[in-house]
Amino acid sequence: MNEKVKKEKKETILSGMQPTGALHIGNLEGALANWVELQDDYWMYCCIVDWHSLTAIYDDTKGLKESIFQMAVDWLSSGLDPEKCAIFVQSEVKEHAELHLIFSMLITVPTLTRLPTYQDKKDKLDSYGFLGYPVLQAADICVYNANKVPVGRDQEKHIWLAADLAKRFNSTYKKTLVEPEALLKEIPLILGSDNRKMSKSFGNHIPIDFTEKQTEKRLKGFYTDPKKLRKGDPGTPEKCPIFLLQRIYSDKPDEEIAPGCRSGELGCVECKLKLSLRLNNRLQPIRDRRAELVKHPDDVWDILDTGAQRARQRAQNVMEKVRGAMKMTYRKKKK
Ligand code: SF4
Repeated sequence: MNEKVKKEKKETILSGMQPTGALHIGNLEGALANWVELQDDYWMYCCIVDWHSLTAIYDDTKGLKESIFQMAVDWLSSGLDPEKCAIFVQSEVKEHAELHLIFSMLITVPTLTRLPTYQDKKDKLDSYGFLGYPVLQAADICVYNANKVPVGRDQEKHIWLAADLAKRFNSTYKKTLVEPEALLKEIPLILGSDNRKMSKSFGNHIPIDFTEKQTEKRLKGFYTDPKKLRKGDPGTPEKCPIFLLQRIYSDKPDEEIAPGCRSGELGCVECKLKLSLRLNNRLQPIRDRRAELVKHPDDVWDILDTGAQRARQRAQNVMEKVRGAMKMTYRKKKK
């Protein structure tokens, strides 16, 4: 197939993350590594969703700019290439908000209150913004007419909602929007130092900007199989978060780690040291790129500006069609 045809056949992907500051290895292996793989085969729009983060921090936004910067640095140092994908901040493309408003007319409040994510957090977050969060998420996707959204199974419902809203729009007005699909990927389970899901809010994470020593120290404090108290005790690797990480970072965890753990020949100290070496090898090139990028903050902001321009172009194009379908183009554009 010639390059031109191949180019035209590329589908569009929208990916987003809330700016929570420097990322941890759960974010890296769970989402980012996948995006880096996808960027060669799709038109990628990678969005730092600052408006979404307002649901939790609307009254404390002073750290938002720094969090956005750190996230952009992490994305770039992990391998996202601004030549291949538009990397930008959600609030720089106002069309997200316009489509959100239009979508909000096409969905009922009970549909939103039934969503499990709302049910789980409604006692803590009960603002209108939080209720409408999945509608904004649908707009984030549809404003680019994205075909696919790479997500884990826990997010699949939100993509169905986006597809449903696109469908409702198309049947109410005129076929304009693509009905997006989830691009499911088996996300490796990554647990933190306390055996709960790795999360910055639990403080059980390994940030990718940790130094070698910090990484080693954090791993030393990790939970392990509680029945394996010392070297010689037989362990159950399946019950250990360190083994889950060995599965990601070792070439042959089932041959090199599991038998020794089970027989007792391998102690937890040694096992963690092996992991620390491998993890540090994985993170070192990312840390090196990171160190370079933070020396040139203006370059990072320029990349975000260029990404926003590209995203805006596409979103404006889609919104023109949306307004046209709704008979809301009141005056012809002056040439
Ligand atoms: S030897 Fe390794 S896998 Fe086994 S319990 Fe200890 S840290 Fe976990």
